[in-house]
Formats: sequence, structure tokens, C-alpha cells
Amino acid sequence: MDPEPADGPLVILGAGYAGLTVASEVERRSPGSHRTVLVDRHPVHVLRTELYELGRLAAAPEAGEWAVPLARIFDRSSVELRQGSVEAIDLPGRTVRLDSGPVRFGALAVCLGNVAAYYGVPGAEEFAEQVYRLSRARRLAERLRAVAAGSAGLPGERRPRVVVVGGGSTGTEVAAEIASTDWERIVGGPVRPPDVFLLTGSLPFLAGLPARLVDHARAQLRRAGVTIVAGLNVSRLTPGQVHLEDGSVFACDVAVWCAGVEAPAVLRELPVQHGSGGRIAVGPTLEIPGHPGAFAVGDAAEFRDPASGVRAPATAQAAIAEARVAAENVIARRTGAPLRPFTYRERGILVALGRRRAAASFARVTVWGAPASLLKRAIEREYARSVARGEPSGLL
Ligand SMILES: Cc1cc2nc3c(=O)[nH]c(=O)nc-3n(C[C@H](O)[C@H](O)[C@H](O)COP(=O)(O)OP(=O)(O)OC[C@H]3O[C@@H](n4cnc5c(N)ncnc54)[C@H](O)[C@@H]3O)c2cc1C
Repeated sequence: MDPEPADGPLVILGAGYAGLTVASEVERRSPGSHRTVLVDRHPVHVLRTELYELGRLAAAPEAGEWAVPLARIFDRSSVELRQGSVEAIDLPGRTVRLDSGPVRFGALAVCLGNVAAYYGVPGAEEFAEQVYRLSRARRLAERLRAVAAGSAGLPGERRPRVVVVGGGSTGTEVAAEIASTDWERIVGGPVRPPDVFLLTGSLPFLAGLPARLVDHARAQLRRAGVTIVAGLNVSRLTPGQVHLEDGSVFACDVAVWCAGVEAPAVLRELPVQHGSGGRIAVGPTLEIPGHPGAFAVGDAAEFRDPASGVRAPATAQAAIAEARVAAENVIARRTGAPLRPFTYRERGILVALGRRRAAASFARVTVWGAPASLLKRAIEREYARSVARGEPSGLL
């Protein structure tokens, strides 16, 4: 075990949007005053909000654009990087067990994000692809490319068929992207474009988003050739088939699971209060109740506004906003200053709808088409640039 001062370092688990922001904000606010150790199983920060870009991933599967090396981000900072997989967290014992050994902490920020939730649907994990991780998005992009390459030889008029399960933002972005990608350009030969189906299950399409944005997204998906099937949950998956609860079956070349997320197992097992999907239920200051100095931030946490009961969404935008306050509160715990309560204010919503198309909603204004797409791209690029400078920021 590392020799540590009595109070130990700040240990940040996860170098995603939340973890990166906590690390850089603590460094910015109190440079070099305390050890900060940033742990991730990968040596890179993944630009996860861009993993719907399956066309670009298929065109350049090895391109490094979606992953920024942590060593580059923190090359001029005193943040220590530790690569390792978190296997267990002992909050009372103030120790984290990594696959490479234990680490003691004085303060902790749990920023481990989330994983695909399969809700016990048989075959979903085995037979569906997903985009929640870079390795899986790359694998899906390669499969789509292979399916497109073989499509010209399909019998009769048959086209390849892709079924996307889940009608939230991720499923919508993925379906629109697959339907509008120029597969002929990517494959470099004749291609039959895929038929794309989006199964929303029992939830409405883009549930919870503003009505004008939803209407526009539905129309845009229709134009791109996506068929939306609403109202029926998926009951199981078998190789090449998605089964619905009414007994109907969608044969497909590729199934993509975008039906939801939950906390990673290591967090679901923690003996603390949990929110939906096993997220760690945090208090008003983002601290884990009963564990002063231990915070949970981003997709791993469930923050509910104490006054309204409204839950902060599982978005990068919320993760970054929470991380800024968590960083301030980590420092406040050290100095004895009062902790600041977190309040979440949505700055806007942007949903990509295929090539050069998106829909955006800010306050009461809805923007769509090419301008919304350009805006989304500009915001993503600005975030990537700020990360490369070691100062993650932006409107995400
Ligand atoms: C396709 C797609 C599009 C999206 N688009 C948007 C968007 O437009 N706008 C928006 O605001 N949000 C968007 N989101 C949501 C956004 O990506 C997440 O809300 C955001 O990534 C949350 O940040 P986080 O830091 O909590 O988790 P993450 O960014 O997922 O980071 C978690 C980190 O923890 C590490 N980790 C996990 N488990 C372990 C372990 N056991 N040991 C060690 N390390 C571990 C991971 O490697 C990762 O680096 C999108 C998500 C997807 C999948």
C-alpha cells in the first residue's frame, strides 16, 4: 500500500466527463496543495457523447479522435494518473481496491459512469451491439461496414436490416446515423442501404424532451428512412432476431441495444442508499450520506433537487456541472469552509439526427436541421479542444 499522510490523497475514480472535471477544477482552485490521484481502467479520456458517429468510426476505425490520452491532458499538472480497474470500495475503511492493489484515500470522488442495462431480457447482452463504450461502438461500426459491404450480393431485392432498441436520445442518434450514413463511400463499392427500425418499447419516443423537438426528430427520422415502432417491449433476442412481447419477431442483420443504463456492479454492491439503476443517491452537496469527504458525481450518482424532487439527467452536461461543485466541496472539506449545495440548470438539449442534421432546444427556442448540427459539432469540438488543453470546459 502507498505510504500516505494521515488524511490521504484525493482519489478520483473514473476519468470521464465528471472525473476529469473534478481533477482539473481541484488543481485549478488549489494548485499543488494536496495529492490528487486519478484512476481509470483506460489511459485515455473517451469522448463518449460522440460515440453515435458510427459512419465516421466505420470510415476510420483506428482514428484516435474519440480518445484523448490522459498523460497529455495532465502533462503540466501535479495530478497523478493510475491505470487500474476498481474492484471494490470500502467507504468506512477509506480504501479502494484496484486490480493492481489497494489505494487509501482522504477524500474520494466516485465518477465511474454507467453501463448498459439489459433488464434481464434474455439474449440482449449476447446478441445485441451497443455504443456505451468506445470498444463496443468500434465493434458495431465494423459490423455495419461488413454488412454494407456484403449487401449488394443479397438475394432478390433484400436489403440489410438494423434494429435499434430504445427510443431515447442514444437510440435516436444511432438509428438516424445508421440510416443516413453514405455506406457506399465508406465501403467503396455498391451498397444496398439498410432498413432501420427503432423500437421504443413501452416508453414514448424521446420521452421527456420538449414536444417541438420530438416532433421534428420524428419527422427527420422518417425522412431518413427510419421506421419507428412504439408501444411494445422487447421480450428476448436470439441470433439475428428481436422478439417483441406480442410474439412478433424482427429478423435483423444487426441489433443495437440502446435501451438504458445502470450503475456499474461495483457501485450497485456498495452498502449506501441507491437511486434508479443502482446509482449512488447523493445529498444536496453531492456527498454520499454518512461518508463525509466522499462524493459521487455524474452518471454514477443520482442527485435529486431537494425542493422540486427533479433528478439531474445522466448527461455529460450534468456530470460537468456536478463535478465543478464537487471539486469546490472537496476543498471546503479540507479547509473547514461550508459545503455548497448543487443546483442543476439545463442549458439546452441537442440530439443528432444523422448526417448534417440535429435538433436543439434552448429555453423556448428550438433549432433544427443543418444549423443545429453545426452547433452540436462546434460544442463537441470546443469540449475536445478544452480537454486537450487540460482545462475541460464548454457547453456540453
Ligand atoms: C452515444 C452517446 C451520446 C451521448 N450524447 C450526449 C450529449 O450529446 N450530451 C450530453 O450531455 N451527454 C451525452 N451522453 C451522455 C454522456 O456521455 C454521459 O452522461 C457522460 O459520459 C457521463 O460522464 P461520467 O464522467 O459520469 O461517466 P463516463 O464519461 O462514462 O466516465 C466514466 C469513466 O469511468 C471509467 N470506469 C468505469 N468503470 C471503471 C472501473 N471499474 N475501474 C476503473 N475505471 C472505470 C471509464 O473508463 C470512464 O473513463 C451521450 C452518451 C452516449 C452513450
